[in-house]
Amino acid sequence: MPKEHILVVEDEEDILELLRYNLNKEGYRVTGVLSGEEALRTARSQPPDLVILDLMLPGIDGLTVCRELKQDAKTREAPIIMLTAKGEEADVVAGLELGADDYVTKPFSPRVLLARLRAVLRRRVAAPPPETDAIVLHDLAIHPGRHEVLVRGEHVELTSTEFRLLTFLARRPGWVFTRAQIVQGVQGEDYSVSERAVDVQIVGLRKKLGPAGPYIETVRGVGYRFKE
Ligand code: CA
Repeated sequence: MPKEHILVVEDEEDILELLRYNLNKEGYRVTGVLSGEEALRTARSQPPDLVILDLMLPGIDGLTVCRELKQDAKTREAPIIMLTAKGEEADVVAGLELGADDYVTKPFSPRVLLARLRAVLRRRVAAPPPETDAIVLHDLAIHPGRHEVLVRGEHVELTSTEFRLLTFLARRPGWVFTRAQIVQGVQGEDYSVSERAVDVQIVGLRKKLGPAGPYIETVRGVGYRFKE
């Protein structure tokens, strides 16, 4: 079976060639482009299954490319992995909020990037479990219908907001969510949570989860993720 078509957008030619070599070796079909303009043109004429997108590009920058790809029905479904430099957390947050799926910080090892790429492609196929299904991860079990959380078989008492927060993150293990995405994901009709309150809630939640607390990981400068 032919593997997926990957569009790589990277203006540094040696990085582009390194990615092309490694992706080809894994059997992926690769189209490499050096600018945002070319990326948009190529994505529209040969829609990719996944896009690896450098954020620092001459001309149209990566975030703009990301926004345009996510606005176009033809390219919207393709997951995007951003390539970023250290210290570009604000851009990572903006990219995730525009709909990018993940990011890798330069310099990166091709092995790490390939692992992320496989994870993103896998998640694309696997839909999140239905709202009512139990979520069992590591030694943590969440029963949304019963509003119940068990850690190593022991019942844990959570507030309604903590419960929603935990369920929201645990439904998509491995995904990084920004605070704004978490606020949007957990707010109810009758109450809302601020971005700052997310941090406070997480602290409380981790404490209550005890040995399962560390499964909620802080992604510095970006947000939170449930450990895969
Ligand atoms: Ca660049």
